Amino acid sequence: MPFIIAIDGPAASGKGTIARALAAHFGFHHLDTGLLYRAVGAKGGDPVAAAQGLSAADLARHDLRSAEAGQAASRVAAIPEVRSALTDFQRRYAAQEPGAVLDGRDIGTVICPDAAVKLYVVAEDHVRARRRAAELGADADRILAELRERDARDAARTAAPLRAADDAVVLDTTTMDIDAAVAEAVRIVRGALG
Ligand code: C5P
Repeated sequence: MPFIIAIDGPAASGKGTIARALAAHFGFHHLDTGLLYRAVGAKGGDPVAAAQGLSAADLARHDLRSAEAGQAASRVAAIPEVRSALTDFQRRYAAQEPGAVLDGRDIGTVICPDAAVKLYVVAEDHVRARRRAAELGADADRILAELRERDARDAARTAAPLRAADDAVVLDTTTMDIDAAVAEAVRIVRGALG
């Protein structure tokens, strides 16, 4: 049985960095599922058709990390048919040996409800905005407004809303630097690996 680590949380909470570091540490595959929704949003046209026909080239676009792509992703991610078109791919990815780390919004609740470890990564929103602004070279106030809008939309939607699974461990990175957050995540996963 592959070992699955599900990492969810609001935008820019640090979950992507933690997911990458865990995958490298344990030798697991890593999928940033937000990239799938960003690629669907960036493709334009009918989002359901875009999700059904998503290609490797769509995922390789260089403009997927922008705040605009994040907003477009969050709009198409509220469409149930878009989500269901992406479900099989994510579950197949998660089933790879020896294990996989998937990060997103609904990994622990919908995509991999039986994951061996579920982390829900949070951080105070001003801290998240500061980190993301530094990463993108953008204005922190503008990013704060963008994150709040996106989180509100992601949490309010009917289809797979942003929320912690009942059995998720909440990891608050507000006062942690990245090394401390990764060390804590590694400790939690080690505990589950036994
Ligand atoms: O994680 P990232 O910020 O790249 O995600 C972009 C958007 O994609 C999120 O705001 C959310 O609307 C959507 N998303 C989702 N489910 C996931 C991953 C991302 O709805 N598993």
